[in-house]
Amino acid sequence: MRFFVTGGSRGIGAAIVEQALSEGHDVAFTYRESADRAQAILADAARTAPLCRCRADALDVRDSAAVDRVTDAVIEAFGGVEVVVVNAGITLNRLAATTSDEEWRAVIETNLSGAFYVCRSFLPAMLAEKFGRFILLSSISHRGVSGQAAYAASKAGLLGLSATFAKEYGRRGITSNVISPGLIATDMTQDATSEASRTWWMEHCPVGRSGAPADVARLVTFLASDAASFINGQVIEINGGLDWVP
Ligand code: NDP
Repeated sequence: MRFFVTGGSRGIGAAIVEQALSEGHDVAFTYRESADRAQAILADAARTAPLCRCRADALDVRDSAAVDRVTDAVIEAFGGVEVVVVNAGITLNRLAATTSDEEWRAVIETNLSGAFYVCRSFLPAMLAEKFGRFILLSSISHRGVSGQAAYAASKAGLLGLSATFAKEYGRRGITSNVISPGLIATDMTQDATSEASRTWWMEHCPVGRSGAPADVARLVTFLASDAASFINGQVIEINGGLDWVP
């Protein structure tokens, strides 16, 4: 199949790119600032998956016109895309009372509006093909988390968006599902999660560890596969058994 992955330059997105390539899929991924990392992934792909097509495009998902341009270019280059993985995201540690307009907009525009722009952009081609898979990366934070109002709201919004795609387009061969990870070891959690939060997680998580990006990536390729064709409009939690945070 042909995958499109936003934010494929680092962390979970990079693991999804790697996993999809390892299973023989073509992958187009995007990055915002990490051009060097994107180039390194392309070089790896050429070495480890020479029969797969892999391309990287710079894209800020907040820019809907840019989203349309990149989507068109990828569809033209690949001849279509079956699987769209909305992974690009940013976080913000800020109490609701002290979150500025600018901070709120940055998080909502990236995590929620960006997801909408990307999925909307692929819909015409998917409807023409009568096939598509949307996989949206939410977070355990969609249940609400103290100190992350904007992030939690953006991630909860993805549940409504995905459930709507599932209902509007299920009969047209398009499914949409949300993956809701707990703590996964990436730059995001290294930079934004305090030592106290990580310790709390380790103490309370039944499996006693954080997840690896590859744990999430394997779930993504499963949801993209024929084996998952009857899974639609669901929220799949992947968190080692700890499904709430304070
Ligand atoms: P990282 O911070 O490691 O990577 C974020 C990725 O998103 C990067 O590729 C980055 O691009 C890209 N990105 C950021 N802003 C934009 C933008 N405006 N336009 C396009 N791309 C952008 O994050 P993770 O890998 O940890 O997280 C991936 C997803 O999983 C996110 O949606 C996150 O909310 C979600 N998630 C993560 C969890 C975790 O514990 N890590 C837990 C639950 C959910 P660049 O490299 O170029 O900056």
